[in-house]
Amino acid sequence: MYEPVIGLEVHLHLKTKTKMFCSCTLAYGDPPNTHVCPVCLGLPGSLPVVNREAVEKGLMLALALHAEVPAFTQFHRKNYFYPDLPKNYQISQYDRPIGSGGYLEVGGRRIGIKRIHLEEDAGKSLHPEGVGHTLVDLNRAGAPLVELVTEPEIQSPEEAREFLVRLQAIARALGVSDASPEEGKMRADVNVSLRRPGEPFGTKVEIKNLNSFKSVQRALEYEIRRQEKILRSGGRVEQATLAFDEASGKTFVMRTKETESDYRYFPEPDLPPFRIGKEWLSALKDRLPELPAERAKRYQRAGVRPYDAEILAYDLELAPFFDEALKTGADPQKLANWLNADVKGYLAQNEVSIADTGLTPTNLARLVQLVEAGTITGRVAKEILPEVMKGADPEALVEERGLKAVTDEGAIRALVEKVVAENPKVVEQIRAGKTKAINALLGQVMKATRGTAPPDLVRRLLAEALGVEA
Ligand code: ADP
Ligand code: ZN
Ligand code: MG
Repeated sequence: MYEPVIGLEVHLHLKTKTKMFCSCTLAYGDPPNTHVCPVCLGLPGSLPVVNREAVEKGLMLALALHAEVPAFTQFHRKNYFYPDLPKNYQISQYDRPIGSGGYLEVGGRRIGIKRIHLEEDAGKSLHPEGVGHTLVDLNRAGAPLVELVTEPEIQSPEEAREFLVRLQAIARALGVSDASPEEGKMRADVNVSLRRPGEPFGTKVEIKNLNSFKSVQRALEYEIRRQEKILRSGGRVEQATLAFDEASGKTFVMRTKETESDYRYFPEPDLPPFRIGKEWLSALKDRLPELPAERAKRYQRAGVRPYDAEILAYDLELAPFFDEALKTGADPQKLANWLNADVKGYLAQNEVSIADTGLTPTNLARLVQLVEAGTITGRVAKEILPEVMKGADPEALVEERGLKAVTDEGAIRALVEKVVAENPKVVEQIRAGKTKAINALLGQVMKATRGTAPPDLVRRLLAEALGVEA
């Protein structure tokens, strides 16, 4: 009786050579405080300079998300104190962000994007074990970030996860961010409230700094149950900023939320507003690659069902592979089925990516075509897949092992009769109406032919021999 209302705030680390406002290089995992300078240390008198590459990458993301890009953009100071923020303010954007009013499609539904803005990251506080103090590493201070805020239009924890998966694929396809949550290069804060359908929004809470898509989903599921309990018993949800504890799977209160006025936003006096010219923007548009959503549409035009088209298009490993396989002229939907089911299953089970296997687009296409042409049965194809994934040529394999489909009806009929004669008990059950038992006989015939008999044909011949309906 309550429905969740969810909005996300996502931070992506931009993939640039240097930081947002200084020429320090970006390095992950280097010794602490080895990539710092007067600007990112916040020393008095130092002056920031905007990183053009970061702005361009932010703009490319804005364009890819169909956002409106203004003619002018500007940086603001967001003031707060924290040990890992040496300037005591973060340079961010306020009322002139680089993008607003975009959207991202998830399963055919558009999730609105309120705004996209640039800002710098803070450093990192380290709490070494066994000592009574905290250390600060400022290598990350000043790293360029793009923040994206959605409208409160996400309807379930599952959809929130899907949104993030798609955003990650888009950022990677554009080359603007590695978007890897495990490296802290993609972080999400989630906002969630409950309401009765049709009623105004309820009070939301914000859950901070979730570093995996799974945590986002789990935290939301927990929080929705928690709020539901409160509302059902007639209570009120209190607005707060929460943190999620991975171990217990619960949320807990970090602080009651600061309001915007606490930050005392004001225009960054050291960086004047700057123009985003039409020529610049159109040059950036030209640099956009084919995006997953467009790719999905292309796959659909080729005859792939929308569901499979979308899964493949957002899979940055499988999509180029699928594109190559399509060139062979094999049936697009059949290729998609193999990739999305059997091949993916193999990859997951062996924990490898497709590039680490010996599977080539042509060999996959051949396998599909062998089944299509009736040269082999689907069952044989599935059986030899692991070897084809290791680099075997499917045609050679079929030839070598004599796995061609048996098309000689007489030969199969003889086998069917033999199996029927050898299994009087099963035959009796079938004739007594337990028609499902026919599968046991079917299995025996299939086994005797090592899967090379077309199952439909075997079923028909069995039914004939037994005098029952197929
Ligand atoms: P605030 O001013 O509290 O930060 P914003 O309007 O900036 O709120 O929105 C922050 C995030 O919270 C956005 O992702 C937005 O979609 C989401 N949000 C806003 N209102 C609600 C609500 N009632 N329930 C859930 N999420 C919400
Ligand atoms: Zn620096
Ligand atoms: Mg906000």
